[in-house]
Amino acid sequence: MPTLISGTAVAEKVLAECKAEIAAFKARGITPGLAVVLIGDDPASRAYVRSKDKKCKDLGLHSVKHELPTTTTQAELIALVKQLNADPAIHGILVQSPPPKHIDEAEIVRTIDPAKDVDGFHPVNVAKLALEDPTGFVPCTPLGCQRLLIDAGIETAGAHAVVIGRSMIVGKPMALLLMAKGPGGDATVTVTHSRTRDLGSITRQADIIIAAIGRPEFLKAEHVKEGAVVIDVGINRVEAPGTEKGYKLVGDVAFDEVAPKCRAITPVPGGVGPMTIALLMQNTLKACRQIVPRLSQA
Ligand code: NDP
Repeated sequence: MPTLISGTAVAEKVLAECKAEIAAFKARGITPGLAVVLIGDDPASRAYVRSKDKKCKDLGLHSVKHELPTTTTQAELIALVKQLNADPAIHGILVQSPPPKHIDEAEIVRTIDPAKDVDGFHPVNVAKLALEDPTGFVPCTPLGCQRLLIDAGIETAGAHAVVIGRSMIVGKPMALLLMAKGPGGDATVTVTHSRTRDLGSITRQADIIIAAIGRPEFLKAEHVKEGAVVIDVGINRVEAPGTEKGYKLVGDVAFDEVAPKCRAITPVPGGVGPMTIALLMQNTLKACRQIVPRLSQA
């Protein structure tokens, strides 16, 4: 049987580390603060924002939640982001994606102070990741995947890692992390996407597969070699008649058929999902750590 890599357990560990650092900040009279901005009433986004706010409060972080109507204009949103940039009680800013169609998300991201961009989407932080500059912010989901590999003792150095998906949120930063020098890196990385020819011939060469496709149970046993490590980023709702909610969550990997071939695999739920929010807390503390000395020198 494969090792089941529990994101729930590793996330608890990350949060315990955060708690210790928050206590140290508080002893110095500093409370790290995160502002989350939500525009519109998309139920999934609302649920994410609620759980981020709750996690902040549980940890003792200063948490500010701005829930704005769908009619919010680009100018109003930019004004709010600028206000948060200037607020010394706020160290991290996150604008929940996706915003309504009339909002230019790229401009909003560029308006966030890169020093407070805990999502790691600002061009400065994208560049810092490519440059392997440790002061930058890395998107939370791929950072969580890397932490899972490190904690599970999976050797990435020299391994062939295949990333399925090339989004700015998961695939691209994941590939950059895996090819960077150091722990959880030094891999030989192949990035695949919807235009990749004969995907299986590539994934079957992989020692490590990161699946970030957005298609329920897409990766089958035939795509995976014996002894591979599989990290399933996917979160997909599929109908489940007879259950209380009428749906269930599945990953991008057909777990039941893939798991028996694997050396280690993450489940869905309970894999990458809990890591994303834990790494958001970690990024907020990093922002605070980097901003506070800057303020005291000003
Ligand atoms: P996107 O839709 O932005 O990207 C999906 C990627 O998969 C694209 O690069 C696309 O290729 C590629 N793809 C689609 N079909 C195929 C195919 N047939 N063969 C190979 N590649 C394919 O999704 P995200 O990156 O935002 O998210 C991916 C998954 O991860 C989703 O299930 C999402 O719910 C989940 N997710 C989970 C998070 C968590 O906290 N656990 C956080 C973020 C996302 P192309 O570029 O050519 O279109």
